[in-house]
Amino acid sequence: MHPRLAAFLDDESRQVWALRRDDGTAVYLPDGMADEMRALAREHLRCPYPGCVCPISTRGGTKRRHHFFHRTTVSHPTEPESEAHLAAKAMLVDWARSRVPAGADVEEEQSLKDDDGRLIRRPDVLVTGASGRRVAFEVEYKNWSVEGWKAKQRDLDQAGVACLWLLGHTRVSLSRDGLGRSGETPVRVPGLASAIGRANTPLLVVNPVTRQVGTLSSSGSFTRRWRGEFWAYLRVDDLDDCAFDPRLGIRTPTLDQILAAEAIESQKEAATRQRQAEARQHLEDAWQASAVRADLLARHGAVPSFLEGPDTSVIRAAGVHWRAALWVDLVEGRTAVFAWPEVEATLRRHGLGWARDRRFLYGTVEQYMGVLARLGALRWYRKGYRSHFSPTGATVGQVIDGQAGEHRAAVIAREQQEKAEREAAAREAAYASDLEARRRTRLVIDEGGTRRWVPK
Ligand SMILES: [Zn+2]
Repeated sequence: MHPRLAAFLDDESRQVWALRRDDGTAVYLPDGMADEMRALAREHLRCPYPGCVCPISTRGGTKRRHHFFHRTTVSHPTEPESEAHLAAKAMLVDWARSRVPAGADVEEEQSLKDDDGRLIRRPDVLVTGASGRRVAFEVEYKNWSVEGWKAKQRDLDQAGVACLWLLGHTRVSLSRDGLGRSGETPVRVPGLASAIGRANTPLLVVNPVTRQVGTLSSSGSFTRRWRGEFWAYLRVDDLDDCAFDPRLGIRTPTLDQILAAEAIESQKEAATRQRQAEARQHLEDAWQASAVRADLLARHGAVPSFLEGPDTSVIRAAGVHWRAALWVDLVEGRTAVFAWPEVEATLRRHGLGWARDRRFLYGTVEQYMGVLARLGALRWYRKGYRSHFSPTGATVGQVIDGQAGEHRAAVIAREQQEKAEREAAAREAAYASDLEARRRTRLVIDEGGTRRWVPK
């Protein structure tokens, strides 16, 4: 595993951020700098906890991460989650103030509780652009419920505030499944993060101790945004290398790479769709201009509905085009038996190509011949792998049941359904009379094993 990722996910929780007493500016204590920063800490810095007046100092050494500490008894909660949360917030405010465009305002909101002890929903950090456009930063170190997130997200959406969710680094762990196919190590993420990811809402992982942010991806090559799977790939960037974005909050170099890859991919997909649409149009144009269509229109005034059918990748023609060619040249009003050579010759005569392997062509044409057989226009004989087709001389008028305007196939299907129902009723009656007969008889098996029903 990448040592950078290991350091990022380390659950080091010592306090490394403090605030200047005079203007509240965030101050970071780099590792190994405890001695250099001790005087500053004692004289000018305070703990980031709101309202904490405890004097602080720095502590170093060779074995542990250099950090700030309270010099007297602490009067506020000091669990690692809330300290990491405050540190991340201080770091983000500090970073945002140095990155936002001129005229923008960075506000830090304190997590306040209402009279019932509930957390009032206010963003941790709120950036308001010169034009009034707003983006919030929300840091999540505690085990927040998905419902809680949804409610807060709804409030932000209604207020027209974009939001970047920053998942605390201690909420992410290395997956025990080991290396992914790309050689990157997947990480496990909590359900809340998955819900945010599935909603396609901006989400990063934050670590205030290392001053880094992590970007999640569904692909080990970091070419796709994370979509909320229960695992993810994580790449770490220094916050100093990130850019402010009025919609996404923070754009990490990794996110830039992902967005660029996604843009190329969607361009490719659009080009493919365009090519496919052009190819379809080309086939449609060929059908509209075809002699067989003109012939059908001249003789019947319309293209019969039983010639319509889906396009197939096997025959390079509009679905109705090849069906019409086979119908007019081989079936309509004819009785001459035909087989695959005639089918191929007909398609060739109409300039319609097909996939190289004939088995696909035969399979596709057989499906349509099955339809014509059900319509009574031909009989289909099959001997082993060889098929031949014997047209009945049917015309368009005979195939389409003109009387009720009902499609012949539907008539056949209804007749078959009625026949099946009659047969079922007959079976039912036979079974009932059999039961009745058994009630009045008994089974006798003689010495030779012959079974006989005799009257009781
Ligand atoms: Zn404090």
